[in-house]
Amino acid sequence: MTNDETNPDFAEIGRKLFAQPCEFIWATAKIGELPPMGPAEIAFAGRSNVGKSSLLNALTGRKALARISHTPGRTQQLNFFALGPDPNAPLLRLVDMPGYGYAAVSKEKVAGWTKLMQDFLRGRASLARVFVLIDGRHGVKDIDGDMLKRLDQAALSYQVVLTKRDEVKKGLIEKTVADVQAILRGHPAAHPDVIFLSSHEGEGLADLRATVARLLFERDRTIFAPTQIG
Ligand code: GDP
Repeated sequence: MTNDETNPDFAEIGRKLFAQPCEFIWATAKIGELPPMGPAEIAFAGRSNVGKSSLLNALTGRKALARISHTPGRTQQLNFFALGPDPNAPLLRLVDMPGYGYAAVSKEKVAGWTKLMQDFLRGRASLARVFVLIDGRHGVKDIDGDMLKRLDQAALSYQVVLTKRDEVKKGLIEKTVADVQAILRGHPAAHPDVIFLSSHEGEGLADLRATVARLLFERDRTIFAPTQIG
């Protein structure tokens, strides 16, 4: 494996990146109260129960990191986490977006949340990519399709991550990915690669970490200088 400036080993860098300290720094439901832009951000979106909290915990190796996003009052907020040795100057921020598709939520709440999300997605120059989580057992449902359309409109880089891989029969993994990729061909802003992972079993987590490492490197080549995460 190589790890020089022209041909970095993103799997290894991704592993080191996500082994960094990670802490909750900010939560808000108001677009005027976001943390000041600075470090690159990646956001995680998905319908409730897709496995978003489990993924944030598994990615960062912290069992209860995303429990905070599940506490009453926080589920409809944007929750920010700082990743890196210095939480005041992190290498990356992770943004946990409110889960959508709760049948029990009132129309006003859905409208409020949709507006928050749209304003955030449209106005956030530091947002490097949105990872849209979709339940691998079910594929792209209408509510997921709505989210993909919104992201197309926001002209943001986004990528689909399929969850709960361990619940899908081995023989169906490839077909599931191909079906999702076929749908994504109709979504111009979607990244063509689909990651299929399991937060419970760990498969695919390294792919996502490497993808994020590559993304950061493409934005700022100095980010992985040895002093940062070496
Ligand atoms: P959230 O509402 O999107 O934050 O979803 P959670 O992370 O709370 O997970 C919802 C449910 O899916 C829980 O019962 C989890 O145990 C389950 N879950 C999450 N990730 C996985 C996974 O990788 N495999 C399996 N089998 N279940 C998972």
